[in-house]
Amino acid sequence: MKILVINCGSSSLKFQVINTVTNDCLAKGLCERIGIDGAITYQNLVKKLDKVKETPAIEDHRKAISLVLEKLTDPETGVVKDLSEIDAVGHRIVHGGERFTDSVIINEEVIKGIQEVSPLAPLHNPANLTGIRACREVMPKTPMVAVFDTAFHQTMPAKAFMYALPLHYYRDLKVRRYGFHGTSHKFVSEELAKYMGKDPQDLKMIICHLGNGASVSAVKYGQCIDTSMGLTPLAGLVMGTRCGDVDPAIVDYIESRENLTPSQLDEIMNKESGVYGLSNKLSSDFRDLWDARENGDRNAALALDVWAYRVAKYIGAYAAAMNGVDVIAFTAGIGENDAKSRRLVYQYLGYLGVDIDESVNDMTHGKIAELSTPVSRVRVFVFPTNEELAIAKDTERLVKTLNGSYYENLTK
Ligand code: ADP
Repeated sequence: MKILVINCGSSSLKFQVINTVTNDCLAKGLCERIGIDGAITYQNLVKKLDKVKETPAIEDHRKAISLVLEKLTDPETGVVKDLSEIDAVGHRIVHGGERFTDSVIINEEVIKGIQEVSPLAPLHNPANLTGIRACREVMPKTPMVAVFDTAFHQTMPAKAFMYALPLHYYRDLKVRRYGFHGTSHKFVSEELAKYMGKDPQDLKMIICHLGNGASVSAVKYGQCIDTSMGLTPLAGLVMGTRCGDVDPAIVDYIESRENLTPSQLDEIMNKESGVYGLSNKLSSDFRDLWDARENGDRNAALALDVWAYRVAKYIGAYAAAMNGVDVIAFTAGIGENDAKSRRLVYQYLGYLGVDIDESVNDMTHGKIAELSTPVSRVRVFVFPTNEELAIAKDTERLVKTLNGSYYENLTK
């Protein structure tokens, strides 16, 4: 099948066309500054053409989708002859609340459901819905699937997802841990088990998704039992610009001392904190931080140390939660590419019996590799994630169950 994967933000739209037989990405791109002025970047990967960037006016998401479809069907630069070659659309949806525990075929009821959980992700879910509506207008006959960032974590037991707050906040406001990056944690845990020739049912795995946004999950016998992000993606690890776990009383303290509103501090905790904040706003990019650290910048050094210490503590916590760990995986931008940051993390793991081949670590950038030596008690891998492929595969799985009954489904 050829699947169009859409990841819609409030003013952006990322897309890829994926062939689920070969697992190849045929074309990809990004519409930006939607509703402001507009820009589209597009690349045909079949003909290995260079990336092209244009700046047409993009007044809304509907226009963005039309432009994407024009590019995909263009006789010169396109990857399909006409739209009927696109078998389905997979939409990344940030929050599925407690309602969505797996991907679903999109119909009216699903749209309502996504709307209902929107208060939990007020910036993201409405943008995701805009993408769904825009696609539906432009390609009404094409089946669409919603793939949720939260769904994989819905297997967490209550003892892992409950916060120790008055119970009615959970009952009335649905305040609990949800976790994010679920598509990535699911993909890496399943595909890595396959790669190892093992059944996930036999493994206790810790998946470290270390990108600009970052999270760790504990996957026991194929099911997520805990994860570091919470009600929102702000919790857990130190990230590029997000603070991760802090004492909640800090919020009131800083707001009153600095005369900030809750939304101002929320913005600071999401966009000006993490390694960016710790490095005194030097950079959120680990390449810059390592350069600065090696040139004697003490803030950059501290930022990287705080970051790695937090990852190591989560690994320790999840090893305890599962009463052991068989496999640790590093994935996403930093986990896949940054040997020095991986070393900062695994230097804490000797007590687990982790033994790393340093030369393999040094040589591994963006590809699958086993970092651990044969004597290591825990196997440690770099395993690249591919969220778009995971969305395409899930979309294919669900569309195959339709047997031509898409229209019936739409009106349910
Ligand atoms: P997200 O999807 O959350 O935006 P990514 O998983 O793409 O993040 O990770 C992006 C981050 O990965 C960059 O900000 C940078 O810190 C880090 N990164 C990417 N490539 C490298 C590299 N070669 N060496 C070190 N860090 C890298």
